Amino acid sequence: MLRLHNTLTRTVEPVRPLQPGAVAMYSCGPTVYRPVHIGNLRSFLLGDLIRRVLVWSGVAVRQVMNITDVGHMTDEVYDRGEDKMLLAAADEGLSPAEVAAKYEAAFHRDCARLEIIPAEVYPRASEHIGEMIDLIGRLIERGHAYVDDGNVYYDVTTFDGYGQLSRNSLDQLRAGHRLEAVDHHKRHPADFILWKAAGPRRVVRYESPWGEGYPGWHIECSAMSMAYLGERFDIHTGGVDLTFPHHEDEIAQSEGALGHAVVTTWVHGDHLLFSGQKMAKSSGNVWTLDRLEEEGHHPLDFRYLCLTSRYRRQLRFSPDALAAAGKARAKLGAHLAEWGEPAAAVEAPAAKEWDERFRDAVLDDLDFPRAITVVWGLTGDDPVSPAEKAALLGDWDRVLGLDLAAAAPPADEVLPTGASELLDARQAARERKDWAESDRLRDALHHLGVEVTDTKDGQAWGRGPTLWRSPG
Ligand SMILES: [Zn+2]
Repeated sequence: MLRLHNTLTRTVEPVRPLQPGAVAMYSCGPTVYRPVHIGNLRSFLLGDLIRRVLVWSGVAVRQVMNITDVGHMTDEVYDRGEDKMLLAAADEGLSPAEVAAKYEAAFHRDCARLEIIPAEVYPRASEHIGEMIDLIGRLIERGHAYVDDGNVYYDVTTFDGYGQLSRNSLDQLRAGHRLEAVDHHKRHPADFILWKAAGPRRVVRYESPWGEGYPGWHIECSAMSMAYLGERFDIHTGGVDLTFPHHEDEIAQSEGALGHAVVTTWVHGDHLLFSGQKMAKSSGNVWTLDRLEEEGHHPLDFRYLCLTSRYRRQLRFSPDALAAAGKARAKLGAHLAEWGEPAAAVEAPAAKEWDERFRDAVLDDLDFPRAITVVWGLTGDDPVSPAEKAALLGDWDRVLGLDLAAAAPPADEVLPTGASELLDARQAARERKDWAESDRLRDALHHLGVEVTDTKDGQAWGRGPTLWRSPG
């Protein structure tokens, strides 16, 4: 069974679904007022990898991902015109609803380009205000929340486990808030907003028992996860920056309302770094998939790059690393094309051993760097037949999601089996000025349908009449 690192317990634990054979998973989704960047996409990829590994190992998955399409800025920020949803609307001459629809569609397009398998449900926050109001009502009834002047706050001192996920204590949190502007309506500085009264200029506002207003951000994930997955579910994913306060608050809300644990395993993915900094809109170092394609890369080259690092580690992004990932992906595609028809079944013991190694790696807290090493090990393992290699890599790609069948360069750029070894040997022969051996290898290559010639930059080869590239 898949083992995952649980942020709640700080240990790697087997996933034991509440309902045998089927995992219920909630993934925090995008805020739709601008395009997501590749750092965001790395966290959405985490949910996809969990899902693919589970399905590949015979477990069904029901995944829910929220779409945050409600502006959550407080009225002070809002009145200064800094609500991001409104800013985007003003920028683009669209209504807030049109902005949300536009970027929601863009988000789905980005996910498709990255081969992220769609979740079963994408609930929109704007369509679940009723569920949020019900949940807030329950928290007030149970003594976890208080109303003050049209605002509803969560009282963190009433929830015993507050701080457990992020390893914070209420005292630490109180100290941490010392430098902030004090909201005198809060009883404890770590209390957080569940419902905010709308100021006079607020455009998007909803009726509630506490007057017109809008929900705090955290409540949507509690309300929608339980609406679609029930009062207990298996896995919750998100980026590491959501651990506190977003997920800490989600636990306090959901468990406060129900009186029992809701999520078994919390999984958090680390940041993407670019030039040593976390990729974030605010730092101006943002790459989107559109930019990546404009600069000549394939979106799945980025996916390959993500697989070379553990999800719990920071990933250093650079155009060079991306180009190297692209080369590697194309090379795997070329191997797959070269191996031809996959075997109907994998039977040779050596092949089965490779399959075991791959399985062990991905089940071990998604150790994709190790799985990628296994992939390359297989390509160079001569005793395994090409047909069995093709069967294995084709099957593994259901987990990798690299679309390797389409990653090969065009057929006339693919070398026949054995040709690249002959080219290497010929290169070596020329370096030691063994011209006889070099000519012999040129003839051997000719018999494979590969023509080679020597240029001032070294060997160039091609199939048929065109000589077009140097190997490597
Ligand atoms: Zn969330």
